Amino acid sequence: MLALAFVVVSAPAPVDRSPADAVLSVPSQDVPPDMSPRSAPSATAAAPVPATSAGAGAPASGSRAARLREKFDFFPFHASSRGTSPRLARMLSHAEHRRCYAALVLVELGVLAVAAGRVSGPLVLALAWLGGVAGWTLLEYLLHRFVFHIPRASPLSVLGSRQHLDHHDAPSRLPITKPLHLTLPAIAIGVGLASTQGPLGLAAAAGLVAGYLGYELAHVAAHVLVGDHPLPGLQAWHLRHHLDSGRAFGITNRVWDRVFDT
Ligand SMILES: [Zn+2]
Ligand SMILES: [Zn+2]
Repeated sequence: MLALAFVVVSAPAPVDRSPADAVLSVPSQDVPPDMSPRSAPSATAAAPVPATSAGAGAPASGSRAARLREKFDFFPFHASSRGTSPRLARMLSHAEHRRCYAALVLVELGVLAVAAGRVSGPLVLALAWLGGVAGWTLLEYLLHRFVFHIPRASPLSVLGSRQHLDHHDAPSRLPITKPLHLTLPAIAIGVGLASTQGPLGLAAAAGLVAGYLGYELAHVAAHVLVGDHPLPGLQAWHLRHHLDSGRAFGITNRVWDRVFDT
């Protein structure tokens, strides 16, 4: 996840772009009604999406942009200008995205600093932190599958499913990140609970926060980096979820979807 974040912010955007690649771009605040997922032609919307990576196994002669176009021409993202700005600029194009990342980085640094002052030794700190990151991958899957898709009619939809289902209704609408008024209290509760387990719990909590930051980065990247996503297979996996919300729940990884056969 952190590697993804690094790649996203550091790698330059390619210059070869074609208008057809813009099917995945997210330059607009609104999705025209005729482009919403529910109004997509049923024949194409129901078309099977290969589970394989968009990059792996593709013909060597085809460019990455061409491979993505082939897979997602039917996907109902806004098809206006896809922009030529660098990846980082597109990732941070919305103020809410910037606020989300800034807040999560600050929380991560704060929790990590406190944990580092209490854990005996950098190796132990690193192992506990990595344990938290690994734990996030499962938590991400469970939250997405069992919490974020709770029906709107349920009182439990206040836990985040309303925003998530809105995102499913209009995948190209910004912001993509979850609102801080939901996530920061959840993080505070999680860190508080983890801290009751001592310094190692706190270090693991820092890993969970880092994992969540990776989730927000990966989700935005899946929607705004069109044709130049550093991990096109992961992007394809998430877009597949938008076509079939009962599958492909992983955003930062596909491990748990394979384990639970979703
Ligand atoms: Zn999405
Ligand atoms: Zn979903």
